[in-house]
This record gives sequence, C-alpha cells and structure tokens, in this order.
Amino acid sequence: MDTDNQHLQQSWQQQLQSAFSNVQDLCDYLELAITDLPFSLSAQQQFAFKVPLSFAACMEKGNANDPLLRQVLPIVDETKTIPGFSLDPVGDLAAKAVTGVIHKYQGRALLINTGSCAINCRYCFRRHFPYSDWQLSKLQEQQALDYLSSDPNLHEVILSGGDPLLLNDARLSTLLTKLATLPQLKRIRLHSRLPIVLPARITESLLTSLKHSGKTTTLVVHCNHANELNPRVFNACQQLRQHGIHLLNQSVLLKGVNDNVQDLAQLSERLFDFGIQPYYLHILDKTAGTAHFDVNESDALALMQALKTLLPGYLVPKLVKEVAGDKAKQVLA
Ligand SMILES: *Cc1c(COP(=O)(O)O)cnc(C)c1O
Ligand code: SF4
Repeated sequence: MDTDNQHLQQSWQQQLQSAFSNVQDLCDYLELAITDLPFSLSAQQQFAFKVPLSFAACMEKGNANDPLLRQVLPIVDETKTIPGFSLDPVGDLAAKAVTGVIHKYQGRALLINTGSCAINCRYCFRRHFPYSDWQLSKLQEQQALDYLSSDPNLHEVILSGGDPLLLNDARLSTLLTKLATLPQLKRIRLHSRLPIVLPARITESLLTSLKHSGKTTTLVVHCNHANELNPRVFNACQQLRQHGIHLLNQSVLLKGVNDNVQDLAQLSERLFDFGIQPYYLHILDKTAGTAHFDVNESDALALMQALKTLLPGYLVPKLVKEVAGDKAKQVLA
C-alpha cells in the first residue's frame, strides 16, 4: 500500500516511534476482528505489545493464525501458570559477572547495555528480565569493559540485549572503538533482530560505526519464518555483506509458527538467498508465560531428521538447548 511505503521510507527512529503499540490498531490494519483472537489485556500488561510496521506488513491480512502474528500477539495462554516454566530458566542472572556482562562460556561473553527491543516477541526468555538494571550508565559501561579487558582468554564479545542496534550510532561507535583496544579480542558479534524487523536501521552511518572495532564482525540475526524475509530485509543484508559482515541466523522452534518441516526448509533456503547462514534452532527456554509455544524434544528431533532429508548439510541449523550451569549450549541434532 502507498501509505505503507511512505511510512517505510521514514527514518528508523520514526518507524520505531510509530510502531504498533495497541492490538486494536494492528487488527484494523490486518482486517481482523479482535474478538476473533485469543487476545488478553492482562498478558499485554505483563509484557508490552510492540510491532514495527515493517514486520506487520509481512503478515497475511485476515489470517488470525498468521505465523508472524502469533509471535507478537498477547494471548490468554500466557497468563497460565505451568509447572517447569520459570522467570529465569537459563540462569542468566546467576551468570552476571558485573552489571552488563553475562559470562557463561570460555572465550566469549555477552555485553548487555540496553534492555529495549524494537519488537516484543511473546516467547522471549527475557520477558521477565529486570531490564531497567541493564540500561548502563557511562561508569557501569566502563566497569563492564574493565572486566572484559581483565580476561586474557576473551576472544569474542557479543553485544546483546535487548537489541544492541537500538543504541545510537555515536554510542555504538564509541563502544566499538573501546573494544578495539582489547588486544586479546579477535571477534565482535552482535545479536540483533533489527535487520529483520526494522531493516531501515541498517544505515550508511551504522555500517561505518561497525567498522570502528577493526575486528572481524559477525551479526547473528533472529528470524523464525520465511515470511519475515522481505525485499527491505534483503537490501539491508546486502549492505551488511558488502561491508564485510558475516551474517548468521538463530531461530526458536515455536509451536504454531515454524514447527513443521516445510516451513523450516523454506526458512533455511530463503535465508541462504539473503546471504544468511542458518546457525542455531533453539529449543524454547522454559520461561513463564511461553509454554504454549513449546515443542517437545522428541518432536524436535523428528523434525530435524526430516529436515536433513530436504536440505544440503550446510543449510541445516544445529538444534540446541541451553541448560543453566552448562559450559556450552547442548547440541541435540
Ligand atoms: C548462547 C550464548 C553465547 C554464545 O554461544 P555460542 O555457542 O558461541 O554461539 C555466549 N554466552 C551466553 C551467555 C550465551 O547464552
Ligand atoms: S527481539 Fe529478541 S530479545 Fe527482543 S523480545 Fe524478541 S526474542 Fe526477545
């Protein structure tokens, strides 16, 4: 639509500001009656509703079961208490080294300096995270960097969140310039969903900032369904690759979104067309309010078996599970 196109040409900050924050507005846009959906206001009160137009534009109008809509719609199931689903299932808070750093694995650590995201995914394992504590002040950021520099074995810093690409370019380039001074550091990795949900974020100025680290840079995007991959995303990925950034993808295996072999195969094929290498397919972290998305491990293994018959080996993601206290992610298949 023309109005969509006009909106999608605005700056990423403007698009972020005018993201859908009200389910009724999204329903109007999708030509759906809110009363036909399992929408729950109390679920929305627990974890806010937020969807940029760029992502909503990939949903099918009139389809209450659209796989992209399911990822973002607050529903009644979220408000149920299910045994085994907890507030911090992967033990992130216990793995906090200093404020802003989660250090679980040898050689790599997560640096988290923003709590916000451009989209709120209902299955997110960080939906209960005390994010305001992770909005780092300058002093806290310096302390986090001091911690990272004191580890001689640290080869990779992973900027995570929240979404690290929500930091502005100035803040990001300052941070990357500081990381550049760590001699033991070989690689910088960013975990971001923005190239998929808000591709306008990939600006010339960002691409320049990303170079400031002088280290090999990998961007791990997060895409769960082939329908998320539109021409705007394609352009963003092209730009990133032209600037020498390696692109990987991680997905979460989600019931009713991508838990069938055709969708998973199509996702890998399309990622490859976009220059993105499939990396991880995560078993859902058992976070309170997300049980309705869970695919059990035996079904997940069967899906992987079937997927391997359809794809070349290099397009098959690793099925992984995070276990609190482990020294690496568990690879199940
Ligand atoms: C997943 C994760 C990483 C990265 O793990 P890789 O297997 O290297 O992709 C690093 N730190 C934490 C805390 C993680 O959860
Ligand atoms: S973009 Fe990632 S961190 Fe943010 S809500 Fe979605 S899954 Fe969670």
